[in-house]
Amino acid sequence: MAMFRGHLWGGIVAVVPLVFAVQKWFVPTIIPELTFLDIAIMFGCSILGGLWPDIDTKSVGQGLFYKIFFVIDIFLLIEKKFIESAILGLLAMTPLLGKHRGWTHRWWTALLIPSSIIIFHSIFSGELQILKKPPFFSGKLIFTSLHFYLAAVTGYFSHLVLDKKIK
Ligand SMILES: [Zn+2]
Repeated sequence: MAMFRGHLWGGIVAVVPLVFAVQKWFVPTIIPELTFLDIAIMFGCSILGGLWPDIDTKSVGQGLFYKIFFVIDIFLLIEKKFIESAILGLLAMTPLLGKHRGWTHRWWTALLIPSSIIIFHSIFSGELQILKKPPFFSGKLIFTSLHFYLAAVTGYFSHLVLDKKIK
């Protein structure tokens, strides 16, 4: 529990400078404005990023993420998306295969895992359609959720720093 509180606060504190950086450098070139909702989501992403690494051990983060996976899986089954459901189930197993502070505690997973935010945002916002039309890479695909991605990466790294386990 103490670990949970530490990582929760790590995620909250670490994202504050990023919010100012995004306001300074992203507005209005990358995003039109930084709304209260944007900031709230950035905090959410950072907190989730900070809790993610301990998904490989009995923790508050593990309980939270597996509940999320469970709900998504039920939803996919109801929608008869069996392949997506199977892939989710397979991926959800992987944190438990390694030892604690294994691959979930690496700098490259800190960059890789949060990229799912950009991928899902692109799919659900329809930005993925941009890829199918010329110019094939418009940059918009990545940029409109880039500050959420960076927030999750920031929270993730705060966890690694607090664990003193950057590899
Ligand atoms: Zn950890």
